Amino acid sequence: MKAKLIDGKSIAELIKKEIATEVASMIDQGLEAPHLAAILVGNDPASETYVAAKERACRRVGMTATTYRMPVRTSEKELLSTIEFLNNDPDIDGFIVQLPLPAHIDTNNVIEHIAPEKDVDGFHPRNIGRMLLGLPAYLPATPAGIMELLERSDIEVQGTHCVIIGRSNIVGTPLSILLSRKTENANATVTLCHSHTTNLAELTRQADILIVAIGQPEFLKADMIKPNAVIIDVGIHRIPDAKSEKGYRITGDAAFKEVAAKASAITPVPGGVGPMTIASLLKNTLLAAQHKVYKP
Ligand code: NAD
Repeated sequence: MKAKLIDGKSIAELIKKEIATEVASMIDQGLEAPHLAAILVGNDPASETYVAAKERACRRVGMTATTYRMPVRTSEKELLSTIEFLNNDPDIDGFIVQLPLPAHIDTNNVIEHIAPEKDVDGFHPRNIGRMLLGLPAYLPATPAGIMELLERSDIEVQGTHCVIIGRSNIVGTPLSILLSRKTENANATVTLCHSHTTNLAELTRQADILIVAIGQPEFLKADMIKPNAVIIDVGIHRIPDAKSEKGYRITGDAAFKEVAAKASAITPVPGGVGPMTIASLLKNTLLAAQHKVYKP
């Protein structure tokens, strides 16, 4: 393997230590520990795993975590009334509604009902709008985590051509904004590719930094990248594998072995972007508890 591994796990650990120090100092000052709540509707196994990981991470940095579990048949009205309750509960600094929601619930409507000052996932239109304008906002966790990963790995973004594959509202689209903003370690020229892009490989071969977030295992192959490109792999998939003890292996959206042989740096899956997403959520929760984005 030629590429340097971008160690998201270690960088996220460092960020969590910094957060834990801040939380401890809040408690020393007689303040309450930041409190994050999560609403989990239904029992999707991946969502259960993510919520459990977020809860564990909160506790490890000294924050309080509460999960509100609601059955899969929960109506939108019932979900909105739980959101209303959390919006008005002074004990809760921030909360998330774990996605995806069951198909009978309108996700956009639900997100719009979260109070922007408690929307630590950064999905509310007000936070997205503020991000777009460069105003203080809760940044969506995965794109913010990727920006931090690049910065803390000393990867220069300014002046580079960044190509993103995938334009979802939670990863590709907000990341395209963060990378192209006129701020420190951004100022990139960004190409955002999606399912209607006709000349994908031609574009990805021009990327200095290539971010792949399409949700297709091992989609990105070595012949789609420029030699020495930096590869950020957002995808995460569990693939059945009889040779593995667990019966499965975890892979990303890039064919890791062949891409790592040609790239200059790459994020592993697991241990790359995933841990950074959780670290960013904790960071937003801390900002919420300290009223650093919205003044009381
Ligand atoms: P999504 O399914 O919402 O969006 C996929 C995007 O890929 C769409 O914009 C679509 O246009 C594009 N796309 C699909 N096929 C394409 C093709 N052949 N060529 C070009 N573009 C194509 O995905 P998402 O929610 O952004 O998630 C993407 C992946 O990242 C998933 O594997 C998901 O599990 C993972 N993810 C990981 C984290 C993390 O913290 N590591 C966070 C969020 C998502």
